Amino acid sequence: MSSMVNHVVIVGGGSAGWLTAGVIAADHPSLTVTLIESPDVAPIGVGEGTWPSMRDTLHRIGVSEAAFFRECDAAFKQGSRFNGWRHGGGAEDYYFHPFVLPQGFGEADLVGCWQRDLPNVPFADLVSFQPHLCVQGRAPKQPATPEFAAVANYGYHLDAGKFGVFLRKHCLEKLGVRYVPDHVTAVNSRENGDIASLQTKEHGALEGDLFIDCTGMQSLLLGRHYGVPLLHRKDVLFNDSALAVQVPYASADSPIASQTTSTAQRAGWIWDIGLPTRRGIGHVYASSHTTDEQAEADLRAYVGVDMPTPRKLTFQPGYREQFWHRNVVAIGLSAGFIEPLEASALALVEMSAAMVSDDLPATRDAMDIVARRFNDAFTYRWERVIEFLKLHYVLSGRTDSDYWHDNRRSETIPARLRELLVLWRHRPPSRLDFNRIEEVFPSASWQYVLYGMDFRPDRERITRRDSTTGADGYFREAAELTRRMLRALPSNREMIDHIRLHGLQKI
Ligand SMILES: Cc1cc2nc3c(=O)[nH]c(=O)nc-3n(C[C@H](O)[C@H](O)[C@H](O)COP(=O)(O)OP(=O)(O)OC[C@H]3O[C@@H](n4cnc5c(N)ncnc54)[C@H](O)[C@@H]3O)c2cc1C
Repeated sequence: MSSMVNHVVIVGGGSAGWLTAGVIAADHPSLTVTLIESPDVAPIGVGEGTWPSMRDTLHRIGVSEAAFFRECDAAFKQGSRFNGWRHGGGAEDYYFHPFVLPQGFGEADLVGCWQRDLPNVPFADLVSFQPHLCVQGRAPKQPATPEFAAVANYGYHLDAGKFGVFLRKHCLEKLGVRYVPDHVTAVNSRENGDIASLQTKEHGALEGDLFIDCTGMQSLLLGRHYGVPLLHRKDVLFNDSALAVQVPYASADSPIASQTTSTAQRAGWIWDIGLPTRRGIGHVYASSHTTDEQAEADLRAYVGVDMPTPRKLTFQPGYREQFWHRNVVAIGLSAGFIEPLEASALALVEMSAAMVSDDLPATRDAMDIVARRFNDAFTYRWERVIEFLKLHYVLSGRTDSDYWHDNRRSETIPARLRELLVLWRHRPPSRLDFNRIEEVFPSASWQYVLYGMDFRPDRERITRRDSTTGADGYFREAAELTRRMLRALPSNREMIDHIRLHGLQKI
């Protein structure tokens, strides 16, 4: 009889390791979950932007949202704002990718009606109240809104270092995860090639049935032990370096931004994330198109002369040829990494942890079946992430450097994206293009970026396709919601201060 899966061993105590441990331990109290974390290798310590899915994940593992806000220096994130991506021009060169769907999405021909009647109004501003909340620095909920519930859909900005400590405490105190602070030095194999146990410096050999590789970019089990190669995608997404700094606010009551702001640069872009006590700012750039010195100078021009010494990070854009091989599955940076333009890394961690937990194989025989499904799902997801990020670049009209010209060269654009751009001349992105039950980015996100980046469909064709009636009612609804929400919602800082002081109602 095939052996039962009773013991899950996770290697790595970064965000990926602890999130995965939390999800599996919360869902499967009868399983033994052990997490091994090396005291010699620090977690990467960046990764401050999340998606709304993080609300579900935190709720799923049973944490208090108020405790999370207090202990992780967390703030609300309602989407992304892109500055200077269209043509690198002045203050009017910006657009939003908000987290809420357009009003009436899927119910009426919003794009056709927008093009016919109001083509000069930014698409997101017309169909959604959320960009207006962001511009005004509003929170997505009120003091009476319960934990994890939203008036406007939201994710978080957080301190990555504090997040790991917070999750560890919860996993150990509430979920019964076994913790082994030790360095894995070797892998011991079974005759069939599976991993039997991991050799540690102080605790000997630790056995398990399923091993989860959360060892960051070194990918100790999947990459190093099994030699599963990284599929390099630098030919599509050029960025491979980042400089990160933490910057204090001018005063303790400075406003906290409601969105991640991404400002395009000559060879990359700068992220700006507001936490309650500081901002996290970083320049992501392509070493093939600029130097570290120039990238630092561009970051300094953004932050100001008092900029602290930045921390440099490098990465190889790409993902593993397989994520689950034999009795090892990689989650987090060990599975791959692509620049953080839409903060998709932690979202992929959440999806991976959820799929491992939901489809947890009961026996070793079942594992190969689950592994095939997992590999198929995540290859599809990584490819959609790559295409979605590339969309931001291919539509740019910037001409100030080779970086932007090269990004538009046809051979750097994935074939599927090139085809979609042809179809979208005549109709908006829809479920026809993204038809899996769990898509990484819904078609609404593709619309926000496409039209935010000034892509204009063939007006004649698009308005002829469907009746455009009904859409103007949704535009009025979005405007009315904007008025009501701006009156009712506190500022981000007021709401975060309230949570830190008084907590939130439990659901
Ligand atoms: C510049 C940059 C910006 C980013 N921004 C975002 C963002 O805004 N949003 C987002 O979602 N993601 C972002 N990411 C990605 C995000 O940081 C990661 O996905 C996330 O932190 C998960 O990392 P990890 O846990 O996989 O790896 P790590 O944090 O590197 O953890 C690896 C763990 O493995 C352990 N380990 C290693 N070797 C051994 C060994 N031999 N024995 C035992 N343990 C071992 C280490 O001790 C450590 O605990 C960003 C990444 C970069 C580089």
